[in-house]
Amino acid sequence: MLKYGFGGAHPMNRSRLEAFYRALDEAVVSYRIFKPVMASMEELLLFHDEDYIKFVQFASWQGYGYLDYGDTPAFPGVFEAASYVVGTTLGLVRLVLRGEGRGFNPMGGLHHAMSSKAAGFCVFNDAAIAIKYLLEKEGLRSVAYVDIDAHHGDGVYYEFEEDPRLIFFDIHQDGRTLYPGTGFRHEDGRGEGKGKKLNIPLPPGSDDVNFRGAFDEGLAFLEKHDFDFLLLQCGADGIEGDPLTRLEYSPASHRYAATALRKLADEKCDGRLVAMGGGGYSPENVARAWMEVVKALA
Ligand SMILES: [Zn+2]
Repeated sequence: MLKYGFGGAHPMNRSRLEAFYRALDEAVVSYRIFKPVMASMEELLLFHDEDYIKFVQFASWQGYGYLDYGDTPAFPGVFEAASYVVGTTLGLVRLVLRGEGRGFNPMGGLHHAMSSKAAGFCVFNDAAIAIKYLLEKEGLRSVAYVDIDAHHGDGVYYEFEEDPRLIFFDIHQDGRTLYPGTGFRHEDGRGEGKGKKLNIPLPPGSDDVNFRGAFDEGLAFLEKHDFDFLLLQCGADGIEGDPLTRLEYSPASHRYAATALRKLADEKCDGRLVAMGGGGYSPENVARAWMEVVKALA
């Protein structure tokens, strides 16, 4: 998982996961480590276009340049690193489907990647691939995806906007003030997907109280729908002090969300819940927020 990073000067670097792993080592919590696995080409193709996958393979071999407009650099082995993130999320999904507890992939939740392009530090969208896998390979009727990262999960939202099988709920900093500039209230799905999505933008400066208010609205929305699996993208970049955003949550928001979703998954879908790390660019904040998630799930 540490291989997915863009170097020390880039916000998405290995120091964030290292801080989380140190905190996990020191914590009194019961967990099992699942060895990362690489996604197969067939799994990547569940969501991504073949031409785009080949482009990433070439850039990975070449080892330099950008995979997008300038946020997501190529590096030698980026294809393999990104494939490990996807394979690991899928591996956890399979374990959870077999009834083996709940899962957390700290490097997962790469929610900006689109089917045909990289974006915002995200090469392959493990969350979107997991959704496709659950619906198309496992035959689940419906999946819920909750995203509390400071940025809107545009790579999941737009790719499933018309799909009624994805129940989508996303809290993020207002798109008028932060990348990727989307996720407005009126974006509540299209066509058959209308009413199956809820986007709640929060203004800069929003804190735990604002988060809780928005999250409770999302919980009421999720309660109204049925689903067979729950995915959580728990980006830690909404915690006060993050260098890229202007939200001011504390890790208590992550505890609140993960605890409520664990309970909801127990009620709705036999406890099937996989969380994915997502963003977060202060290593200390990442460690604190994700430990709250791990404790809630464990
Ligand atoms: Zn983010």
